[in-house]
Amino acid sequence: MKILVTGGAGYVGSHAVKRLVAGGHDVWVLDNLAYGHRAAAPEERFVRGEIGDTPAVVKLLKENGIEAVMHFAAYAYVGESVTDPAKYYRNNVVGTLSLLDAMREAQTRTIVFSSTCATYGVPAEVPIPEDHPQSPINPYGFTKLAIEHALADYAHAYGLRYAALRYFNAAGAAEDGSIGEDHDPETHLIPLVLGVALGKRDHVTIFGTDYPTPDGSCIRDYVHVDDLADAHLAAIEKLADDDGPTNIKCNLGTGVGSSVREVIAACERATGKPIKVVEGPRREGDPPELVADPSGAERLLGWRARRLDINDTVASAWRWHSSHPEGYGE
Ligand code: UDP
Repeated sequence: MKILVTGGAGYVGSHAVKRLVAGGHDVWVLDNLAYGHRAAAPEERFVRGEIGDTPAVVKLLKENGIEAVMHFAAYAYVGESVTDPAKYYRNNVVGTLSLLDAMREAQTRTIVFSSTCATYGVPAEVPIPEDHPQSPINPYGFTKLAIEHALADYAHAYGLRYAALRYFNAAGAAEDGSIGEDHDPETHLIPLVLGVALGKRDHVTIFGTDYPTPDGSCIRDYVHVDDLADAHLAAIEKLADDDGPTNIKCNLGTGVGSSVREVIAACERATGKPIKVVEGPRREGDPPELVADPSGAERLLGWRARRLDINDTVASAWRWHSSHPEGYGE
């Protein structure tokens, strides 16, 4: 297929691009490089631009006969979404609606959308099934949920075919060491802990040690970014099948939870270095436990995460960070 990947120079997007190319698809990347890295995307068929520039996107879709879009381009800092919601609604909602307008005009009918477990808010049950009520507790989650609703409405009215994939915590890096995680600012647990091992940071702070979990720290479901990439490939191929589903909503997680303390211990094992830890207060908006019920993805996509052991995922992240201590260096 001919596929446009928005945000294809970002963390999850770049791993999906690599997987699509390996799967024999023709891929174009659209990224404004606000957070993405030019070096993370292929040299060919890279367009620096905005998803909100509808005329340019229509041209890109039409001129290249694009059949489907994978839409990763979004802002994804939960804390920033609370302090600057306008930035999030403008980019994640308005920008995505512009992209959908461009797709309608170019008659590109298929989209795979990066949604998030943040659409569930504080879960009433764990593991979380897809039919759990969606009740976000921050603007970021609301922007993603708004687009899930738009996709369902556009599917009904305009015949759009879509997948909304609700990621849990993306982690790890490509096995060949070519691409990995490089955020600025970095706020995610695993790269922060590995930054301590690299001597780039003095310590890591555990955000809350009084949660109702076995060791008092938050539990998350860390899913390997290459597994996420496989799920995207499976989703786009399902949607391309005329006899297949026209819409897919599913969790992408392992079904296995790891606490912050367990992640830090896995980092100590992977790096062979002790990690200095400071116990701090809770971070606002963090539910105690987020773990996917992954059975929907298995049923709908025939996909299951292959890396279930947090030690393997952390070791994969360490291979990238230890060989690229400055990330992409851009
Ligand atoms: N966390 C932490 N210290 C940090 C960064 C994160 O204790 O410096 C915790 C955070 O409270 C959450 C988990 O690690 O329970 C994963 O957080 P991250 O920011 O990586 O991902 P999120 O769950 O927010 O998407």
